[in-house]
Amino acid sequence: MATVAVRWEEAEGAASGRSRCRACGVVLRPADLIPIVGYLARRGRCRACGGAIPLFYPLAELAAGLIGAAPLLLLPPLPALVAALLGWILLQLALIDFQRMLLPDRLTLPLLAAGLAVAAVPPPGVVLPSIGMALFGAAIGYAIFCVTALLYERLRGRMGLGGGDAKLIAAAGAWLGPLALPNLVLVGSLSALAVAVASGALRRPGMVLPFGPHLALAFWLVFMRAQGAGW
Ligand SMILES: [Zn+2]
Repeated sequence: MATVAVRWEEAEGAASGRSRCRACGVVLRPADLIPIVGYLARRGRCRACGGAIPLFYPLAELAAGLIGAAPLLLLPPLPALVAALLGWILLQLALIDFQRMLLPDRLTLPLLAAGLAVAAVPPPGVVLPSIGMALFGAAIGYAIFCVTALLYERLRGRMGLGGGDAKLIAAAGAWLGPLALPNLVLVGSLSALAVAVASGALRRPGMVLPFGPHLALAFWLVFMRAQGAGW
């Protein structure tokens, strides 16, 4: 997933083929590709050139593992499966946004469609809005975000929120229903604010941070909560 994010929208040749060191191009061995273990065994450096492996890779691996493990421990089997699948798609979106500052339609729109589909035919035990509320949630989510983005642009004179963010909120509206949207925006904004403070972005007005990863995190936490996961 980390490699998909790093290679997203690269030239055809670079986007396919075996995993390689980004610094020297050496093809990685299977042992190098074992999640987290490979990184630790190589002490975060390329076997061939000694170049540092970005922390992005083991952190993405850790996140993917947690997204699989937490539902397994906290939820019944079917909601856990749905939560893990949703979480991995959201993680892929977050990783791509982090690397490329974009939330591709190729992922957000199917996620929105999937939210409407599961609301129409809910798997047993999975807590979802009715199909009417899911449609309403998607529409409201999209509208709220477009209005916020427009206001921000008027006030600051530059784009703050992208169309990808609006589509991700629409997808969240479909999966969670309209009543969960205030919670979603609150959790996402607090997470974004925490990172902005920690990274010093507040003191550097030109610095741009992607909002998608925070939205994705909030989306997943609110969904887990709705399924009855307690913490
Ligand atoms: Zn290398």
